[in-house]
Amino acid sequence: MTDASQGVAFSRPMVAGNWKMHTTVDEGVALARAVCAAVAATRRVDVAVLPPFTHLWAVRPVLEGTGVRLGAQDVFWKGSGAFTGEISPAMLAGWCDMTLVGHSERRHLFGERDDEVGKKFVASLAHGLQVILAVGETSEERDDGRTFDVVDRQLDAVFAELDGPPAVDAWVIAYEPVWAIGTGRTATPEQAQDVVAHIKQHVRARFLDGSPRVLYGGSVTPANAASLFAERDIDGALVGGVSLRAEEFGVIVAAAETAASARDTD
Ligand code: PEP
Repeated sequence: MTDASQGVAFSRPMVAGNWKMHTTVDEGVALARAVCAAVAATRRVDVAVLPPFTHLWAVRPVLEGTGVRLGAQDVFWKGSGAFTGEISPAMLAGWCDMTLVGHSERRHLFGERDDEVGKKFVASLAHGLQVILAVGETSEERDDGRTFDVVDRQLDAVFAELDGPPAVDAWVIAYEPVWAIGTGRTATPEQAQDVVAHIKQHVRARFLDGSPRVLYGGSVTPANAASLFAERDIDGALVGGVSLRAEEFGVIVAAAETAASARDTD
């Protein structure tokens, strides 16, 4: 994998499907099967599904041998203890591949603070789980011209919890403008590229090792995926609503595959 900081874009994108609080366990298993079938021809893209916690153990065997990775939508930072309702990274380690931390619904609906996101991030890494760190501004923050300040603040709060730079493949950032999540209002490719490039710069200023992959998330569909992936710094997508429809999700993955091939031949 080559870092964009050295002038070449990442050649292996990631497309992850955040199922949020949708599907029963049986429906989730069926959806996982359908996703595996829809992405079976994929060679150049890291594909992941993030089912609800209750589904993870049932979905795991469906993914076996397919290359599709399994992620949890959240995690607590403590290893164990009297924390009713929470799931620890130790409980996921060894069989679940990754966690998602800092999703805007966690931040804005459940009041999760930047420092708590940082603790979840560090705890995931410490247990060998890859982490997708979601950051992004609200529409008011964008209108006030504060987009870069907001993503910098969210990133810096995570960095403050770290002793050193994480391995570049151990984490992934998802730039998800809050105003684009579940709204059908996608950021334009230029808007997304602008912030994703800024995020990479910000990370490189902190860690000389370079930036991890940065995905875009927010109303990604088969219709807009290719134009987003054509942008130089966008290394894939975090997909919400459309990830519940396996065939359409497969089309987004195929668009990332095409973009990866194009980057390789650039
Ligand atoms: C998300 O939940 O991370 C997301 C991007 O949702 P949607 O694709 O539905 O906007």
